[in-house]
Amino acid sequence: MGSIPSDKPHAVCIPYPAQGHVTPMLKLAKLLHSNHGFHITFVNNHYNHHRLLKSGALSSHLNVPDFHFESIPDGLPVPPGGYEDATQDIAQLCDSLMKNGLKPFREVLKRVNSDGNSPPVTCIISDGVMSFTLDAAEEMGLPEVIFWTTSACGFMGYLHFKDLIERGITPRIHESQLKDEYLDMAIDWIPGMKNVRLRDIPSFVRTTDPDDIMLNFCKHEAERTVKAKAVLLNTFDELEKPVLDAMQTMLPPIYTLGPLALLPSKASKVPVRSNLWKEETDCLKWLDGKKPGSVVYVNFGSITVMTNDQLMEFAWGLANSKCDFLWVIRNDLVKGDTAVLPPEFSADIEGRGLLASWCPQEAVLAHPAIGGFLTHSGWNSTIESLSNGVPMISWPFFAEQQTNCRYVCTDWGVGMEIDNNVKRDEVEGQVRELMTGVKGAEMRKQAVKWMKSAITASQPGGSSFNNLERLVHEVLLSN
Ligand code: UDP
Repeated sequence: MGSIPSDKPHAVCIPYPAQGHVTPMLKLAKLLHSNHGFHITFVNNHYNHHRLLKSGALSSHLNVPDFHFESIPDGLPVPPGGYEDATQDIAQLCDSLMKNGLKPFREVLKRVNSDGNSPPVTCIISDGVMSFTLDAAEEMGLPEVIFWTTSACGFMGYLHFKDLIERGITPRIHESQLKDEYLDMAIDWIPGMKNVRLRDIPSFVRTTDPDDIMLNFCKHEAERTVKAKAVLLNTFDELEKPVLDAMQTMLPPIYTLGPLALLPSKASKVPVRSNLWKEETDCLKWLDGKKPGSVVYVNFGSITVMTNDQLMEFAWGLANSKCDFLWVIRNDLVKGDTAVLPPEFSADIEGRGLLASWCPQEAVLAHPAIGGFLTHSGWNSTIESLSNGVPMISWPFFAEQQTNCRYVCTDWGVGMEIDNNVKRDEVEGQVRELMTGVKGAEMRKQAVKWMKSAITASQPGGSSFNNLERLVHEVLLSN
């Protein structure tokens, strides 16, 4: 082993172990490595580490100078069948990491700091919902920056969980109080957020249980953000200005770095991807045979689950729209079951509908054939769609997806919402409107406008580009 240059900055990056968190953290780590000369230690949980190896995203023979992977236990038992191709239970994972994450993380930090194989650790970049890492940073006298992989508006919602509890708005006493009229209550006191209702606040407020894991977990994690040296967000200033301005007064310095995927990068030097599922790339060839803007892309991300009845409503709504579509149905999309679509459906969609179980989404959204996106409004999906000028139909599932949906449909003018109690006629009508209607055309125009400002923000001289430079020089290298 050659001598280790001790003058290289060394960032330990630790995402929350779910797809929508690992992907943006890896993008940031690659940028720091290839554009700014950082040595990177990237810490996954054992579960995802195995899945990345299995999906081919991470090679077991990977040998990229100055880019190392480590993994830690998350405290949950390994499923009896081994590491499955499925997302772990989010509430259990949050709870377990909060209780059990610090010890193994501290051990990794100490080891990589002193094993002689890497330069001393100079900073920690941790996911916003992995705040136990702040304790390890403090013990070792290291600066830590916190990366919330949500939208700014979604994060602002979490930052107000404490207020919502103190005002008695959540939790409610009876289920009957979680009905529509209650959720329609105006929440008009969150700085920087206008025309927002309780239903637009991250969904974990919809509970009657004062000990609800997600309500308390998100409140706790959001409150701990003040301890970080800086806060990072995968958004851009123009998109979320009012909420970002308001947030600046509440938190350590905020650096908006989005869309991370558009920042110029020499990152091809790190041949590692972040997909936990094996990508089916054939769909790109299928798209090559379709007319520009003619295909609806349907994907509900890595966590959303639905009932078989809901799956059928989407299926027949898509079939009846007569539009071409690419639909990604994860093997764990249907709650407690395997998705089964009837033979009549397969016959009906022949030639114009393609099903896949996981795809390279960013390449799909960038394909000229894609004209619209039926999405659960996860933040990564939303910003990837905006980055490619693709308008959306939104069917939010949980967390801050409800907030993203509100902004997509109102402030940003790029989407329409489908009722939670999804019906095939509504799917059919909205898909037609999105692809061929006047409203769809207007939303597409807006989406292209946002795409242009996202590109401006991420190119030299733009706000996100400059913020990454500033983050590196003002914070990460300033010790
Ligand atoms: N993704 C993908 N292929 C798929 C489905 C999802 O590459 O078939 C990626 C997508 O590009 C995004 C991430 O997985 O970067 C999903 O994150 P998001 O925040 O949208 O949703 P979540 O999975 O966290 O609900």
